[in-house]
Amino acid sequence: MKDVNMSAAGPSQGARAPLGGSAVHEVTSVGAILPGATLGVMGGGQLGRMFAHAAQQMGYFTAVLDADPTSPAGLVSHHHVQTGYEDAAGLAELARLSAAVTTEFENVPAQSLRALAATRPVAPGGDAVAVAQDRAAEKAHFTRCGVACAPYAVIETAAQLAAVGDELLPGIVKTTRMGYDGKGQIRVKTREELAAAWQQLRQVPCVLEKMLPLAAEISVIVARGRDGQMVNLPPQLNVHRDGILAVTEVHAQAMPAQRQALAVESTRSIAQGLGYVGVLCVEYFVLADGSLVVNEMAPRPHNSGHYSMDACDVSQFELQVRAMTGLPLVQPRQHSAAIMLNLLGDLWFRQGDQAQTPPWAQVLALPGTHLHLYGKAEARRGRKMGHLNVTGADAQAVRATALQAAALLGIEAF
Ligand code: ATP
Ligand code: MG
Repeated sequence: MKDVNMSAAGPSQGARAPLGGSAVHEVTSVGAILPGATLGVMGGGQLGRMFAHAAQQMGYFTAVLDADPTSPAGLVSHHHVQTGYEDAAGLAELARLSAAVTTEFENVPAQSLRALAATRPVAPGGDAVAVAQDRAAEKAHFTRCGVACAPYAVIETAAQLAAVGDELLPGIVKTTRMGYDGKGQIRVKTREELAAAWQQLRQVPCVLEKMLPLAAEISVIVARGRDGQMVNLPPQLNVHRDGILAVTEVHAQAMPAQRQALAVESTRSIAQGLGYVGVLCVEYFVLADGSLVVNEMAPRPHNSGHYSMDACDVSQFELQVRAMTGLPLVQPRQHSAAIMLNLLGDLWFRQGDQAQTPPWAQVLALPGTHLHLYGKAEARRGRKMGHLNVTGADAQAVRATALQAAALLGIEAF
């Protein structure tokens, strides 16, 4: 185990002094954890990096736990504990460094979050994250909260496989655990394909979800504090390509007000039902008749919320900092129409197999373009390298600019 950044050039001992002793343990009962303290995050990906930036902007120090020495968040954090997520010494070091801990990805072992919570405020908590990690538990929770999900069946045994009703086909087999960006999913049309898919997925626990005709996909981000107070970002309209988010639009023309209100209300009840603390994103399908069907949730800031960094007065990452530290949550205000373009590694390979830098200067010559790159050394196809936020006065203006930027970058129009 190494705390690389600390041993190299960490903050002064003076900066860390307030963290010592028992003060930290009492802090939730006596008030907020204030700037000057160190905030820990499980996971060193881009979400952790943007969390670290938001925390540092507010005067916090940050500590990242991630085994990868070149992780995007580790590179910008004051402390980088380079161990696995279940390493007892690494977790102890993160707890020692941090006044509170959060997570940046949902597959962090829930048990590690529970262990950290023995000595530090942890938001979101291990129990809530455990629900989000398991599609079957997640769907059961949605149903309990009165929010409809796609018709589905749990497949854990050959008997359950045989008992699946024909009305669920065509469908999508999804592993209950560890799926992301469309990984761990197989589309099936017949019972034979279903059986073969479950075989291919090594007969791990799965759900079969009925394939629904989607008119659109949307998501909502809420932040909930320890006191139950909740705020939300305006709902996002999302375009996925090959199972990966490609474009997010948030402006007056993105969706009717009634749909926004319903999605926000559903998301609030899902967070409330979990006793959730932190930032939560819930994804929905919009069907042809306009009805909403919940897809899944992420117990953390979400790719579809990145527009808030440039288009809202409080970003999803600042909400994460406020929620975990017990600072007040205020309702964010969107001040600009926004479109976010995801920058996948594919954009580096438009001319063949040799990676080439996309035309950033031309893109940044367009008004209201904000480039965010995650510091990943190597571009690979399908890898999230960064995102471009485009802001404008209204839907029409922001769409015009975003389509120009997309054309320059080789992103398909939307
Ligand atoms: P991520 O975690 O990156 O959002 P994931 O791997 O968890 O993705 P899902 O969100 O379950 O995957 O599915 C990815 C995409 O596949 C959805 O955004 C949607 O476009 C499509 N999809 C998933 N389930 C269904 C369904 N039941 N009917 C129609 N399309 C679906
Ligand atoms: Mg999804």
